[in-house]
Amino acid sequence: MTIARFWRETPQRYNLGASRCSSCGSAFFPPRVVCPVCPEHRRSLGKMEPLQLSGEGEVYSFTVVHDPAEGFEMQVPYVLALVKTREGPILTGQVVDVSPGDVHVGLRVQATFRKLREEGKSGVIHYGYKFAVAREEVREPVAPEGESVPEPRAEGPRPART
Ligand SMILES: [Zn+2]
Repeated sequence: MTIARFWRETPQRYNLGASRCSSCGSAFFPPRVVCPVCPEHRRSLGKMEPLQLSGEGEVYSFTVVHDPAEGFEMQVPYVLALVKTREGPILTGQVVDVSPGDVHVGLRVQATFRKLREEGKSGVIHYGYKFAVAREEVREPVAPEGESVPEPRAEGPRPART
């Protein structure tokens, strides 16, 4: 399957439609019709519910790409990350609008829809999700001079500020 076909035929790539197993609660993206987690797969048949991902998540793992894939030549270096979404599924995507040096594990991001790549000769443009730094991450408090900024937590939700 070519990349072009892949994107065309998977509309959930555009709207982050996932599925959740109502037996064990596991969420999947792209959506599944059978739960691969439940010991008896057949039991989950018909129990998968549509789940809309919020697009919110945090960087779980990432790599800085210096050697571009075809169609990405203008964008190097770029950051390709595994993002653990709030709902659970891990998505692969480019992290944009941030310098690669500022990306770290635990960085909170938000999915955003962008042009993915242009196909060389045909000029077909593909759109899909990328990740931008979450707004609350941008608003991270700036420590006054002489004080150190606490390290961001790598895992788990932050406690709500009171
Ligand atoms: Zn399940």
